[in-house]
Amino acid sequence: MQYRPFGRTGVNISALGFGCMRLPEIQLENGDWQVDQEKTNEMLMRAYELGVNYFDTALYYCHSNSEIAIGKALKPIRDKVYISTKCPLELVKAPGDFRKVLMESLRKLDTPYIDFYHFWGINQRTFDEKIVPLGLIAEAQQLKAEGLIRHISFSFHDSPEALKHIIDHGCAQGQADLAAGADVVLPDLAGGTGLETVLLQYNLLDRANEEMIQYAAQKGLGVVVMGPVGGGRLAAPTELAAKLGTEAVSTYELAFRFVLGNPGVCCALSGMQNIDMVEKNAVVASLENPMSEEEWRRVGESLENLKKFSELYCTGCGYCQPCPKGINIPRIFQAYTYLNVYGLRDLAKNTWNGYLNDQKNPGVHPDQCVNCGYCERKCPQHLQVRELLKRVSGVLAGL
Ligand code: SF4
Ligand code: SF4
Repeated sequence: MQYRPFGRTGVNISALGFGCMRLPEIQLENGDWQVDQEKTNEMLMRAYELGVNYFDTALYYCHSNSEIAIGKALKPIRDKVYISTKCPLELVKAPGDFRKVLMESLRKLDTPYIDFYHFWGINQRTFDEKIVPLGLIAEAQQLKAEGLIRHISFSFHDSPEALKHIIDHGCAQGQADLAAGADVVLPDLAGGTGLETVLLQYNLLDRANEEMIQYAAQKGLGVVVMGPVGGGRLAAPTELAAKLGTEAVSTYELAFRFVLGNPGVCCALSGMQNIDMVEKNAVVASLENPMSEEEWRRVGESLENLKKFSELYCTGCGYCQPCPKGINIPRIFQAYTYLNVYGLRDLAKNTWNGYLNDQKNPGVHPDQCVNCGYCERKCPQHLQVRELLKRVSGVLAGL
């Protein structure tokens, strides 16, 4: 197993982290769920034997049983591993609620401290409208001073711009850099570190955060990636690895190596469900150099070129939106790109069907287009959107 310095936390974290959101579960006769403790113990111990030292859970994972299960499984090696868990901010209405939620996690994990305690799934709005006004970073620092948490972390789902905003205002180095001329309200870091690590989405299919990973690393944050194989979407066999001329033998391996090849990434988190997966991932995470920086750049460029020189290069910028008929053009083109560029037929089909049949918000079929031409006037790639929509929807419907 390879270990990497985890930002400025002083911790060396294993390149593979165990995401404990898909632990094996058993449904009881009364319909309740419980985690299969025996299998969980085996998997987590095998991961530990292979060098994994970072275990990530959250209050609600596995029908709210994940924390209890990993607390039991890791008990014999508690001081040798790092446990990460997360606070759902909808439970925090007043500053003191943050402590109450933490106490619940400590109780379930049966541990006196959490190594990395996350503000869970935040975005710019939750940061600006909850974390800052409720003074939650100062709350977290107090809990840290009491030894109940060791490091302050956040997991993130928003745009790269929002991530920059959170880093600049919530982490010590970001604030120091802003301090010169800032007339903005900053959370109280009280001379402390503020946010220290971030958990974010990044993989071959979704590289939106790539630049911000580098930025976060420069500001001293430790970076953990969730979904390194696109939530399993890159597990299906395709010709992609061969097309990109890499050493990786499969797209799955390529995806993993690519994430670990990013110099800003400290750890790739995988929601492993069985020992085979643990062992397979550990092999890649044990490579001294999963992907050289040069190869990483080349794969990134080749990937971009594959897209660029494919018949349809949609960057997903969204300038063509809103279509007056509500057609989600970037989403439809993305489904086609999965097929056309990555060779992921099932993913393309599921994305297309998921778009049309979304229960809450069914997507509008391109045959509703009224030829207004707005999208084509706005598209910086000069795509003949109307023509492409017809062709692409025909292909996707036939999958
Ligand atoms: S041309 Fe069609 S797809 Fe484009 S904006 Fe108008 S209605 Fe929407
Ligand atoms: S404006 Fe063009 S490139 Fe941007 S999302 Fe729309 S179709 Fe894609």
